[in-house]
Amino acid sequence: TLINGHAGLYWAYPAAAALFFLLPLKEATASNIVFVVSMSVVSFITFPEADFWRITFSLGLTCLFVMIFAWLVGRLQVELTRLATTDPRTGCLNRSQLADILNGQIQMRERYERVSSLILLDLDYFKRVNDTHGHAVGDQVLIHIANILRKRLRASDLVCRVGGEEFTVLLPETGQEEAIQVADSLRLLIRDTPYREQAVTVPLSCSIGVALWRRDGETLEQLMESGDKRLYLAKQAGRDRVESGQPKG
Ligand code: GH3
Ligand code: MG
Ligand code: MG
Repeated sequence: TLINGHAGLYWAYPAAAALFFLLPLKEATASNIVFVVSMSVVSFITFPEADFWRITFSLGLTCLFVMIFAWLVGRLQVELTRLATTDPRTGCLNRSQLADILNGQIQMRERYERVSSLILLDLDYFKRVNDTHGHAVGDQVLIHIANILRKRLRASDLVCRVGGEEFTVLLPETGQEEAIQVADSLRLLIRDTPYREQAVTVPLSCSIGVALWRRDGETLEQLMESGDKRLYLAKQAGRDRVESGQPKG
């Protein structure tokens, strides 16, 4: 603008907008403040005073609108990521996230010999809860369970809701023995913490299968299957228990 006058000035507008696409919001805002101030000084030198005011305000407003737009897009992105990765009812991670995370853990295990454990937890006779108290209470019970799990576990542990009333917990840096202890403490906690609301008390229990990493090269499907088998054994053995042994067959 200093060299070419109006011919240069026209490019200030797309340049200001482009900053919001090229830089993170904070840096783009700071850069644009510097840019608008510089442009006002240049217009003050180059153009009559009336033009100086017009340029300063039109460029300032352009920056403000693009900034608001960029901020909204950023917020939308955070919200969409949250919706795509978590279960809206309980706030736990969803099934597709679990698959991604577990594949990562399998690689960590093979490359860096890191241990982690996987717990599959299914509420016992949950259909009865719905039948007796209605679906709305059933939904609240699921939130109650998710809260119990999150409260008891460490921040680094990952709780996923993989099905209706089935949760999977990944315990990073935790060996099989410790995982069995954690599983049992979760089982006891759920049994000792019935869902209560006004006149309604819903006693709860769960069955748990602790998946076993058998060897290197174990696939995600094999790992989940070993957990499922144990969960099935826990159900068959009478529910309200943790199964961690070698499944037959
Ligand atoms: P089991 O001890 O063998 O696990 O018995 P169960 O009744 O828990 O198992 P089943 O798989 O037969 O029933 C699961 C029930 O969970 C069926 C369905 O009505 C209920 N359910 C699944 N998802 C939801 C949900 O999001 N909200 C509510 N309220 N109920 C759900
Ligand atoms: Mg069940
Ligand atoms: Mg189930």
